[in-house]
Parts: sequence; structure tokens; C-alpha cells
Amino acid sequence: MSKKPKQIIPRKTPMPEQPPAERIKNYDEVPYGYTPEQAIAEAKRCLECARPLCVEGCPVNVNIPAFLKLVAEGDFRGAINVIKETNALPAVSGRVCPQEEQCEGKCALSKRFESVAVGRLERFAADWEASQGTPSIPDLTPPTGKKVAVVGSGPAGITVAADLVRKGHHVTIFEALHEPGGVLVYGIPEFRLPKAIVRREVEYVCSLGVKLVKDFVVGAAETVDELLEEYDAVFLGTGAGLPWFLNIPGENLNGVYSANEYLTRANLMKAYRFPEYDTPIARGKRVATVGGGNVAMDSARTALRLGAEESIIVYRRSREEMPARAEEIHHAEQEGIRFELLTTPVAFHGDDNSWVKEIECIRNQLGEPDGSGRRRPVPIKDSNFRIPVDVAVLAIGQSPNPLIPKTTLDLKTGKDGVVIIDNETGKTSKKGVFAGGDVATGGATVIMAMGQGKKAAKAIDEYLKTGQW
Ligand code: SF4
Repeated sequence: MSKKPKQIIPRKTPMPEQPPAERIKNYDEVPYGYTPEQAIAEAKRCLECARPLCVEGCPVNVNIPAFLKLVAEGDFRGAINVIKETNALPAVSGRVCPQEEQCEGKCALSKRFESVAVGRLERFAADWEASQGTPSIPDLTPPTGKKVAVVGSGPAGITVAADLVRKGHHVTIFEALHEPGGVLVYGIPEFRLPKAIVRREVEYVCSLGVKLVKDFVVGAAETVDELLEEYDAVFLGTGAGLPWFLNIPGENLNGVYSANEYLTRANLMKAYRFPEYDTPIARGKRVATVGGGNVAMDSARTALRLGAEESIIVYRRSREEMPARAEEIHHAEQEGIRFELLTTPVAFHGDDNSWVKEIECIRNQLGEPDGSGRRRPVPIKDSNFRIPVDVAVLAIGQSPNPLIPKTTLDLKTGKDGVVIIDNETGKTSKKGVFAGGDVATGGATVIMAMGQGKKAAKAIDEYLKTGQW
């Protein structure tokens, strides 16, 4: 008997969220998440495709139709177990992945209707498991006696650690900061990714047997070569923490921050919990953030929550070319952030106390596409104008910190200091040393870092078993 065709429900089940006027006064997470009933209704929209393109769109190849089917049947435990077979950070990726470009962008429904809300359902399954108490621990391979040092506890490092410990290797993560999570704790704000969730996922990986050493700066406390005396392999997942600047006049004025510093003060150093934490941070009334990616949206939205009366995004191309996730741009617009598009800063001007008071900008028009495939901003002659500000945040990109390459002489680096790797294995130029995530890409997405971590973990396992480089 042939299967009855499924009735198509064209739109996603909406996810309830805090109203904009409320949420700009607090740091609580914006979306509340699905209820079990909403999750079941949404999962039932899946067509159970014979060739599920959503899986091809997922950098860590989660078996999406299998977990959606289990959610639709109300078997939430089964669903999270399927996700965790390939994804060690589901509550994180369910929140911060650019799903519209990945699994959801490939979903069969998305050609004519709204895709299945895969990210929301992944988040639902992970949060449901957390609400049940202790998570289930997968079967682990018996110990192999091999030791791996993972440098950095961001998304790439955590993924590598989780995959290798499951294969029976002894894994130690070295984290330079006092809290694990890397960019997930210093970069992404609480209202987008609550830190309790990052802690929960790191604790899960540690519960599998991974050892975590905090406040340990590899490259200073010990070099990579010294680690290799004790460990059979090293994975570098140190991220990209070196901010870029515009190199224009006035950039050294007080009140001009890199997004890296601004967000670290707000998030990791908890300026958002004033007066409990009295972290110094300039609370401007008019704050301009330069850039169009997720980091720019995070900075501009953080400025509002730190008390700004006006928060402005200054971006050199149009809205269409913005690299930020659609949902982040939408949330920023809902919160009243002003967008100065097709605009490039050319100078900062200060007051008598050397505090920034204006950004001088020039208007652009769009030209031919550049190397990134996006249309190039072309300055319009004599279109200069000034935006009054008392804080400016630069969110225009970042490079890896040079400490490890400087202290590891045979580690090859490329443009902007990225560690050169083989894309399929994460192998660097140095035997026994692998790398992945932003240290190798210069700044991509959390899920891309996790995808590279998975490939590197597979290659490290093979290297440990065969000794072949
Ligand atoms: S492509 Fe979309 S409809 Fe098809 S299996 Fe994946 S989520 Fe379901």
C-alpha cells in the first residue's frame, strides 16, 4: 500500500519570545523556546525525505530526519541521543547556528514554504534533556593509553575533546581564561546564549572523562613542543581573539573599543551585572558599532542593554550583503537599532578630553562583486557626514592570537596569521599538531568550528592508532 502524502504546513510554528520593549531592559534570553506541544507540531512538518538535503547542509551531519521523527513521536530522549551521536553542543548550536544557510537552507520545504525549524527543535531537545536532570552518557571505548592535549575550550576544542574521549583516548583541555567556552563565553552575550547553557555542555564533556585545566596559557606557561613531550597529539583550537582596526585617524581616542574588548567586558567580566560586578565599561548614550556580522549585532544590542539611548550600526554595504544571521538582524531591528547602511567611517573626532564625539563617514554605492561574492562598496565623492557618538565599537573582524605560532617555529601560518591546515584532516605543518576553528579560518561560525573539530578528531584518532602522518 502506498504511503499517503503528507499534508504540508507552510509556516514554522512560531517560537514565543520576550517583547522588544521589555528585553532591552534585561539580559535574559530573547526566545523562550518551544513547549513540548509546539515541538511535536513543528517536527510533524518534516516530510521525511528519502534523500534528506538538510543533513548535507549540516557541518556535523546530524541525522536530522531521525531526530525530528522521534520528536514528532514525543520520544525526546531518543531525539537528543540521536543529535549527540554527532554534535557535542546541541543547546549551543540550536541557538547560534546560521541554520538558514545550512540545514534549513537546504530543507525540501524551503523551496516554496518555510523550512522545518531544525535549530529550534535541536535546542528544544537539548533543553528538554537538561530539564530531566543527569544527561545520558554514551558508551565509551576502553582506554587506549594515548594522550591528547586540546588547546582552547571553544566550540572546536570541545568537539575534538568529546569525540576523542569517546574513542578511549585520554584528553586534557588547556584553557587560557578562568572560564571554559572560549568565544561562547567572552563573545556571545547572555541574551543570545545564556552562560549556564555553555557551562552545562562543558560539564557534560567533562563527565565523559575529559580533564579541564583553566588559567593556562599555552605558548607562555608551556610551549606546544613541551606539550608534545607529554602528549601523543596536540589540537590547537585557540580561536581568533586579535581584533582588527580600521587604521583611520582618531582610532586611539577614549571610548573607541574593539568589539572583542567591549563584549569581553560586558560578558565574561560581567559588566551587565552592575552593581554586583563593577567592571569598567563606557556606558554611552549614543553608541555606534561598525560592522555587519553577528558580532556587530551583539555589540549594538549589548549597548542598548547597557543604557544607550541610541545604538547605531554603521555598515559599508547594504542590508542584503550583511553577514549576520537573519534572525539577529531582525532582532536588532525590532529593538530599534538604527542602521546606517552603505556607510564607511573615515575618521574619529574627539573632544578636549580626547573622548570620541563624532564619527566622520562617507557614503557608498554598490559596485561589482568582490572576492567574497558580495557587491563591493564604492565611496561617493564629497559625501562626508558626521555621526555624533560617545562610544564607538569596531566589529570588523579578527585574526588568531600570534602567541602560539611565535613560540612554535615549525608551525606554518598564512594570511592574517591563520594556522595553515589540511582541510580534510586539520593537520598542520608540524607532526602531531592539528588545528581547527577560527585559528585556522580567521573567524567563521560556531558550527564551522565544530565541523572542523570533528574532521580533526577523526584524523587524530587515525594518527594515534597508526602513527602515520
Ligand atoms: S530536508 Fe526538511 S523536510 Fe526533508 S527530511 Fe530534512 S528537515 Fe525534513
